[in-house]
Amino acid sequence: MIRLDANECPLCEGALEKRSEIRDIHLGNRTATVPHSFYRCDSCREDLYTPEQMEAVQLLASDKIRDEEGLLRSSEIRSIRTRLGLSQHHLEQLLGVGPKTVVRWEKGTVFQNGATDSLLRVIADVSGAAPYLARMHGVDLAADKVGEQPLRDEYDFRDDVHGKHTRHGIEDVTG
Ligand SMILES: [Zn+2]
Repeated sequence: MIRLDANECPLCEGALEKRSEIRDIHLGNRTATVPHSFYRCDSCREDLYTPEQMEAVQLLASDKIRDEEGLLRSSEIRSIRTRLGLSQHHLEQLLGVGPKTVVRWEKGTVFQNGATDSLLRVIADVSGAAPYLARMHGVDLAADKVGEQPLRDEYDFRDDVHGKHTRHGIEDVTG
């Protein structure tokens, strides 16, 4: 993975300057205006985001939109999951949602829909609800007892530099 530690543009070796701007970001069919931190190259004027900077923008944007929609934030979903001692995979099985759905909710790249949001609140607040769903879907609630998992999938910063992700690093997916 290319790092920006050297403060040198990976495209042209120009000098990078750290910038902060309020910008729009598109998430699914929604747009959120949030603070962005990124690097701009003095020579080629390209804007570059580290994976951490892009994740921060995604989380800010998705939390803002979730607040507007009355949906649980990424951190709240993560907190419900870890309180129940569930892996992301087993929470998906419990709720009957597809693979990688929970990791995307927690990264802020995809929103839960309203019905699933309600279900998450029920398993958080109503004792017996999670075991009920676990029996229904054949999930062993005692199996996990996992700690925190990595928040993001590993990916190569070069994809961001050369691809369309440079300015819009959000998966255009809802679900
Ligand atoms: Zn450059």
